[in-house]
Amino acid sequence: MRSVRLRCYACGATATLDERKRCSCGEPLWIDTDPSGFEWPDRRDPGMWRYADLLPVDPPSGVGAAAGGTPLVRTPRLDVDGRRLFVKDEGQNPTGSFKDRGSAVGVTYAAAMGRERVGTVSHGNMAMSMAATAAGCGLECTVCVPADIPEERLENIARYGPEIVRVEGDYGRLYDESLELREIEFVNSDTPLRVAGQKTVVLEICETFAPEPPEAIVLPVSSGGQLSAIWKALRELRSAGLIDRIPRLYAVQAAACAPIVRAFERGNERVSSIEPGETIAYSIANADPPSGTRALAALRESDGAAVAVEDRETRAARRRLAREGGFNVETSSAVAYAGVRRLCERGEIDAGERIVLIATGSGFKERTTDETSGIESRTIELPELSTIG
Ligand SMILES: *Cc1c(COP(=O)(O)O)cnc(C)c1O
Ligand SMILES: [Zn+2]
Repeated sequence: MRSVRLRCYACGATATLDERKRCSCGEPLWIDTDPSGFEWPDRRDPGMWRYADLLPVDPPSGVGAAAGGTPLVRTPRLDVDGRRLFVKDEGQNPTGSFKDRGSAVGVTYAAAMGRERVGTVSHGNMAMSMAATAAGCGLECTVCVPADIPEERLENIARYGPEIVRVEGDYGRLYDESLELREIEFVNSDTPLRVAGQKTVVLEICETFAPEPPEAIVLPVSSGGQLSAIWKALRELRSAGLIDRIPRLYAVQAAACAPIVRAFERGNERVSSIEPGETIAYSIANADPPSGTRALAALRESDGAAVAVEDRETRAARRRLAREGGFNVETSSAVAYAGVRRLCERGEIDAGERIVLIATGSGFKERTTDETSGIESRTIELPELSTIG
């Protein structure tokens, strides 16, 4: 176990993981890593664990060992007017989303500290991911969900056998107050251990492209945890001398719930909460993102942008990813591809540039009927078989 010191990206204050997870200035803390001397590893650990030298824990056993190492696929049919698209297929993680990277670090740390139980506040992928990762290393897991969650959203979570607690009351406060609990290690969307694990997605991307990182990385953003992790990892790679420029980072949100986009467009320094509307991209509908301001800093420092898309564009993107790319992605991930199209139209990304689209989650566990098309099929008699095609 390495010593874990935290630092605030905004004011530079430090703390330890046991003391607090957020800085006294209000911003989230992240783990202080020393990347000096880091090189692309020759270690053979599976998936994300080849980057264990930049992580606060050693590789675990169990399903957490299988996180990361997802394919980065060049997909010319999804190119937009000469911009070259690559899909980072995070749906191929053990529970079908990038959350497994952060859960693996959080749960492994808790186990090493002798904790018996981990927890999370989530109604979707993160709950599933924490429950599975905890099961794989013999820890108990508590999942706090909003009281009014639809039953079918709990099916995949319940399969891994966590304790499920429906909580009445404000979801944002539940998020913050769970982090104060001492008996259970809560690994929420933007907590330091989760952010540490989620750095590995961009380490994989940059190692594949080395020595020239891609020009643009586009991802759907909710809490801002993943974007913060990507930004942090890129800064570490730059200070290790493995990249000499940080790719432009682009955050995409659903127009009905886009607090980060609003703050970006208004030139605000901080992200504040909004009154959300309904969107089909429910996994990313966070109206009060805990790492919103940190995400905003990442966009500005990398010379990127934030963009909002309508559900109709997301549906079209989801359809195109499947029909022209062969990717069955979660609706929230399709938001990012809709964003790519907008960004290209606006001239934010130039012809010839390489775009990495982070397809954050798999569509296989999501029940969607495409409202615009339905399922087309026809029935024939077996003797008519030679007439098909
Ligand atoms: C959690 C999640 C996101 C958003 O990630 P944040 O770190 O909360 O910004 C995007 N897509 C999917 C599929 C997710 O599960
Ligand atoms: Zn601070």
